[in-house]
Amino acid sequence: MSIRTHVLNFKKGDKIFSAGDSANCAYIIEQGRVGLYPLTQQDEKIADLGKGELLGEMGIINNLNRSVSAYAENSVELLVVDREQITSRLENADPILRGVLEVLLSRIRKMLGADSLANHNRDSNNTIVTEGMTKIRFEHEMFEALENDEIVNVYQPMVNLSDNTVAGFEALSRWKHPEKGMVSPFEFITLAEESDFIVPMGLKIFDSACKQLSLFQNKRSQVHPQSSPLFMSINVSPTQLSSDGFLEKIMAITQNHQINPADIKIEITESLMVDYKQVKTWIDECSHFGFKLSLDDFGTGHSGFEHLLQLNFDTIKIDQIFVKTIETNPKSLIMLELITQMAKRMNMSIVAEGIEDKKSAQILKKMGVDYGQGYYFYKPMNASEIDAII
Ligand code: C2E
Ligand code: CA
Ligand code: CA
Repeated sequence: MSIRTHVLNFKKGDKIFSAGDSANCAYIIEQGRVGLYPLTQQDEKIADLGKGELLGEMGIINNLNRSVSAYAENSVELLVVDREQITSRLENADPILRGVLEVLLSRIRKMLGADSLANHNRDSNNTIVTEGMTKIRFEHEMFEALENDEIVNVYQPMVNLSDNTVAGFEALSRWKHPEKGMVSPFEFITLAEESDFIVPMGLKIFDSACKQLSLFQNKRSQVHPQSSPLFMSINVSPTQLSSDGFLEKIMAITQNHQINPADIKIEITESLMVDYKQVKTWIDECSHFGFKLSLDDFGTGHSGFEHLLQLNFDTIKIDQIFVKTIETNPKSLIMLELITQMAKRMNMSIVAEGIEDKKSAQILKKMGVDYGQGYYFYKPMNASEIDAII
């Protein structure tokens, strides 16, 4: 974006713009006062703006002509705000916020009687409103889905790479949508995070994952009484960690299902950790109560090593991208080797995810990676399918 910094000066009584003019820029009032009128200065004044206030932004936001006329009430100095300085922000803003803004502006324009001046681009406005409203509707559907038990978990086994036996699972959520079929978490988790709906949803996901783990562990101890207990990895977002009473609630859930917190690995995605200092307090509390912590998608965040330095994780999960390129990019192999050695020296276990073929699995095993997860071993499955492999 190239920003012109230029200043315009007006004398008392000068017209700054007229109702119906096309809107190319907005202004910040640096000096003086500006009056807004329906059409001319003879009309009744609608508003009086002073130093530091924004002027002429409406036409930019909804891409319509000026809805009022602006006159200098005394000697006025204006800083020009380029259209793009505002529109680029709007493009990046949440569609719901943009939708709400559009609705408010169109209401104000109606009140000002400025609708007759509206000319083009109704369509683009409607698109913004529709996009925002679709999102709101989706949020409602998500709420109902949770009530109707349409948010379910599938479980992807993680294997001990040393002998390919199942060591534990990752709980991955799915939305069993009555019309759309199975909806991927990519489509609804982000939205749930934006609206904090992830908090009740996450607790339900946590609860059913613990319930399943208890059943899986019982079954395993009947079949292989000597084997170490199966674990369950559960994805938890920072919004959940920071929510009121999160720790007490997950403690209650594990107690209710007679699960040892040490068999639960809380997976936190590195790319979502914005403020690690905050996250540190929550992580320390969870570990104090015996939960294990796993750093997900390692290598994709902005400050991977800083996270490792400051936060006490028990497990590192190397992002799929390194595993996917292990056979084609020699750098991947070097990085994987170094991360594995580092994890071992720091007493952390290491998981490689996204393993899709035998060769990659063998390379990772040789390297000393503890656990493997990926389509080569097992795809995410529902609980009854898991029963069969235990
Ligand atoms: P993630 O935590 O990195 O989960 C791993 C994703 O990789 C899963 O996608 C899994 O199905 C997929 N995957 C596993 N093995 C392979 C493989 O060999 N090849 C390929 N190409 N993909 C593989 P999924 O289930 O679509 O989940 C996507 C993301 O959604 C997850 O990424 C996680 O960040 C998020 N997510 C899923 N469930 C939850 C949840 O209950 N809570 C939260 N907060 N996030 C969740
Ligand atoms: Ca994960
Ligand atoms: Ca991951």
